Amino acid sequence: MDGEPASGDVVRVADHRDSFLAWAYFNKASKLQARVLDWNEAASIDAEWWRSRVRESLDRRKGIPGLDGTDVYRAVYAEADCLPGLIVDRYGDFLVLQALTAGIERVKDTVRDALLEAAAPKGIFERSDPEPRKLEGLGPSAGVIAGAAPPERVEVVEKGRRFLVDIAGGQKTGFYIDQRDNRARVAEYARGKDILDLFAYTGGFSVCSLLAGASRATLVESSYPALETAEKNLAANGIDESMAELVQGNAFEVARSFRDSGKTFDLVIADPPKFAQSRGQLAGAERAYKDVNLLAMKLLAPGGILATFSCSGAVEIEHFSRVVAWAAADANRHVQILGRLSQGPDHPVVPAFPESEYLKGLLCRVL
Ligand code: SAH
Repeated sequence: MDGEPASGDVVRVADHRDSFLAWAYFNKASKLQARVLDWNEAASIDAEWWRSRVRESLDRRKGIPGLDGTDVYRAVYAEADCLPGLIVDRYGDFLVLQALTAGIERVKDTVRDALLEAAAPKGIFERSDPEPRKLEGLGPSAGVIAGAAPPERVEVVEKGRRFLVDIAGGQKTGFYIDQRDNRARVAEYARGKDILDLFAYTGGFSVCSLLAGASRATLVESSYPALETAEKNLAANGIDESMAELVQGNAFEVARSFRDSGKTFDLVIADPPKFAQSRGQLAGAERAYKDVNLLAMKLLAPGGILATFSCSGAVEIEHFSRVVAWAAADANRHVQILGRLSQGPDHPVVPAFPESEYLKGLLCRVL
């Protein structure tokens, strides 16, 4: 290293012969000390560079076919959109910005102005409060950074379905946008089915499934505010409250009590939180995923459908598939995989950066 760059400084990365490799931003406090911005030596990483990267990312969303009738999507997905450390989600007229690194923290005002110019939102809200900020030596930062404050719950439309989103207090940036296509896919199997939605959050899977003709849904979720919003989401889509049962509690315990009372369901969705925060937690995470899937299989009527997910970047799909096989062996069930699921195309995956594909799912029939 030449000199002593400060965290957030743009640095020139070179090989041992001092041939240029890339421009990157630097952070000594982080395990990833340099994140590549541009492989082109002629580039100059100035305000115009950031403005055009942001505009290009927003423009790419216009060409995504599945986004018709949808005003909630990821507009900038960090490394995958050539803007490492920056997340921008659109919620109707509002944008939510998440700065995950010191490099983005440094250019936050430039990014904000670029977003105002390119998207003209009513307001931009910052939700730079997730845990990984600590790994960059940064504390949390949240609040309105441009325009109007969002209402307590912003109403958005996903493939024609309405959802209320608590931008300031909800999980992630407010909604699990990455599950959009999977909610639609699972709903294709829902007609006439009695559904169990484990780790339901604000009821995304249940709303889609009930609108697609499910006979009943049981939502299990530990967060009370999330369930309050779920109730509102059911109503916002004209779903009669008698169609759904909302259970606040630990999904493991609730599932066990259903099992002990001999209850069964035709379709189970298991979308737990990230059990492995890093590769070091893989063994523990594996046990938790196995437990969830074992319980889900025990609750499924013969021939029932299981939609099971992992959002741990460290758990690969082959590994997840093996965990499901172990659960099937213990449950004494024969499982057919009908489809592999991933995040939507507004969360593009970079082949050279496989961790960008963090969401994995298996759509199964459990005989
Ligand atoms: N399927 C949801 C997203 C689920 S995210 C959607 O489509 O929107 C995982 C959810 O699990 C979070 O809402 C979190 O609050 C909840 N959760 C975490 N641990 C839990 C537990 N032990 N029991 C029940 N819910 C839990």
